[in-house]
Amino acid sequence: MAALAVELVCIGNELLSGRTVNTNARWLCARVYGMGGTVKRVTVVADDVPEIEGAFREAASRRADWVIATGGLGPTYDDLTLSGLARALGVGLKEDGRALEMVSRRTARLDPARRKMAAIPEGTEPLFNPAGTAPGVAAKMGVTKLACLPGVPAEMMAIFDAEVAPRMSGGPVRSKTLDVEVLGVPEADMAPLLAELAAANPEIYVKSHPQGPGRVVVQFSGRGEEGVKAADGASGAFLARMREVDAKCSVRELR
Ligand code: ATP
Repeated sequence: MAALAVELVCIGNELLSGRTVNTNARWLCARVYGMGGTVKRVTVVADDVPEIEGAFREAASRRADWVIATGGLGPTYDDLTLSGLARALGVGLKEDGRALEMVSRRTARLDPARRKMAAIPEGTEPLFNPAGTAPGVAAKMGVTKLACLPGVPAEMMAIFDAEVAPRMSGGPVRSKTLDVEVLGVPEADMAPLLAELAAANPEIYVKSHPQGPGRVVVQFSGRGEEGVKAADGASGAFLARMREVDAKCSVRELR
């Protein structure tokens, strides 16, 4: 079966101005990869309804299995993600009883700013936020499932792990990434061997990451039983060849 195709839509002017580093995308890419899915694209857009609407429509038109959005769910005037989603779905925003109950579990004050977080696109589903107030939202556009999560990393992670990951994964997928650090062999000198190992093991991903003069980290990633076995084999063969030329090497398994 083809790997689950996932797109991320990260929303926030602060991401485009350089004020905030998009750590949400990095975390979600790693999580999705670990679950056996593939992030096909990360789109970053401003706090602007037409931009947000367009990003959702485009991801759905590419028939992504899942779109995960982060940011713009809060109580302020510039939190516009759900307005953009409503336009993409062709529905209105409406206060939702389940969402209001979730907000009131987190705060006793239900003033207009807090009630705003319970207004979600009609026909969508609120997702409880165990780490903050704004609920997430789950929706569907054609074949694409969508989840809108808050921008605050701890809240985004909590809802993803509690509500989204269990719906996304078709069961546990074993994966393994081994990083081999090599000192003293230029990347260009190992290029033929890397090409050979990649060609002999099409089920794995082999990638060199130069880290500075005289230091290269080579990644071997595999998924599923076959992929894990091949990653072990190829990294072992690589290490043996590096040691033949007296390179200093160390191996680390990424988690
Ligand atoms: P909340 O409702 O909990 O306030 P929100 O959905 O309104 O969340 P934003 O207002 O978009 O979230 O962002 C809140 C904060 O989260 C930002 O000020 C920023 O520090 C952080 N943040 C937003 N997006 C990201 C991102 N992609 N990566 C890392 N941090 C982010």
